[in-house]
Amino acid sequence: MVGYAEILQELHSQAGKRAGLADTIELHCELLEAQAHAQVPAGRLALSSEEAAERLQQGYPLLAPEHLVADDQALAELFDQIGHIVAERRPELAEALAGVRGWLDERRDRIGAVAAEYLREGRVREGEEAGLDAYLLTFVFINALRPFLRVQAQALTPWVDESVWYRGHCPICGGEPDVAALEQESGRRRLLCSRCDSEWAFRRVGCPFCGNDDPQQLAYYASEDQVYRLNVCEQCRRYLKTIDLRQVAGKRLLAAERVLTVAMDVAAVEAGYGVR
Ligand SMILES: [Zn+2]
Ligand SMILES: [Zn+2]
Repeated sequence: MVGYAEILQELHSQAGKRAGLADTIELHCELLEAQAHAQVPAGRLALSSEEAAERLQQGYPLLAPEHLVADDQALAELFDQIGHIVAERRPELAEALAGVRGWLDERRDRIGAVAAEYLREGRVREGEEAGLDAYLLTFVFINALRPFLRVQAQALTPWVDESVWYRGHCPICGGEPDVAALEQESGRRRLLCSRCDSEWAFRRVGCPFCGNDDPQQLAYYASEDQVYRLNVCEQCRRYLKTIDLRQVAGKRLLAAERVLTVAMDVAAVEAGYGVR
């Protein structure tokens, strides 16, 4: 798995080249620094290789939500830091964010259980029902949980048999992809997990979110230089950002591309495609 230092370096080196992205890159670099310095316990294997193979066969990701090794205190501290960074960098979100932070603060002593619930459901239902901004909640959860999930992913990746999995969600944590890549030589598609940064192979055509593979219901919009594609699905109205590595000379880090392509998220949402 690509380390924080490499991702940071890539983002810093792109900051000058990408017009209008300086603020976004600074925000994400601060988040990455906080994640890199979080007190994360070492990942441990809660599975034998037989159990792992069986889980994958049955379609279950390797990490059961209740096995996320997260020390409540360390996780609560990272939630605080993430909230603080976003509030500093995005004053326009201050009010919505204050609601999220207050809500999290009330759940400090059971934050691990709240996190497990998010991993299981893919959303923070309790917070949404309390009227909090769903997008902001997910953003904060993803960023606070990422270092804990990355450590687990590092430990569990050797147990993943890609020929057995081939699903639209992550074989490690069950998260959804937020970036795809078409590989340099083969053009095969790989997906990047929005939560734990694992990458896995997926079929070239088809929507990873709803499984739709009707070409009439799928489309993509390519950038002028053909490097990026915005894949959209008319069945579930979701979208996926894709980088075509056959069109680029050097190496690209998908975890950095996630940040460098935020304009595609904005365009997709404006066109009526959504997160869920
Ligand atoms: Zn994952
Ligand atoms: Zn779909």
